[in-house]
Amino acid sequence: MPNAVGPEQWYACTVHELGVSHLFEPFIDVFYRCNIWHVRGRDRSLLFDSGLGVVSLAQHFPWLRHMPLLAIASHTHFDHIGNLHEFADRACHPAEAHILDAPTRDATLATRYAKLDMFERLPPGGFDADAYRVIPAPATRLLEHGDCVDLGDRRFEVLHVPGHSPGSIALWESETVLLLSCDAVYDGLLIYDAYHSNPEDYIETMHKLRELPVRVVHGGHYPSFGRDRFRELIDDYVRGRRSPGCPSETLARP
Ligand SMILES: [Zn+2]
Repeated sequence: MPNAVGPEQWYACTVHELGVSHLFEPFIDVFYRCNIWHVRGRDRSLLFDSGLGVVSLAQHFPWLRHMPLLAIASHTHFDHIGNLHEFADRACHPAEAHILDAPTRDATLATRYAKLDMFERLPPGGFDADAYRVIPAPATRLLEHGDCVDLGDRRFEVLHVPGHSPGSIALWESETVLLLSCDAVYDGLLIYDAYHSNPEDYIETMHKLRELPVRVVHGGHYPSFGRDRFRELIDDYVRGRRSPGCPSETLARP
């Protein structure tokens, strides 16, 4: 079993252009590691997803509380919502709000995926897979397709992108052509076989997303990419090349 790390080592942060910071948990295997995106605005900031929840995100990054912050769940799989309860202002799509209210192990996919083999090093205190569960964090705001997340000097449009899950949302900033794409599109194996996935919705989502004139895409997992790769990933998925059935890629991830 891998050794546990100290709490001060659990997270890392990389600063990108356009006031975007990437927070992540480096000792979680890359297949399971959620990208946590922080976008700074003039009047407030947004946090898009919050990680596994085994170490306090808010304590590790106290600057998260230096200005008003809206913590948004891109969807409700456990690897994305574990620390959501640490923030007072929380948002998600209505289709998954009931899961934030009562995040059972089955509903959040923890039963299926939250295992010891997620870790390259264990979190402080180790990890009890059977005991792990997400703390309830009811949404204080519901975000529908077309809604605006206004940070004062910049505005993100909410895109409902069902398929991976029914309430998946992406955030689109047209002024900077920046997309936070959640688990709808990232540069890895895309998952459409969760209990509430819908492959037909996923294809429709892909067709809509492909029309966006993106310049930078920050996904829910794996490294960021640009427009050409974005369209290539979508085209591969639509052609069936990036599915759990692909023989060279057998690991499914939430
Ligand atoms: Zn997911």
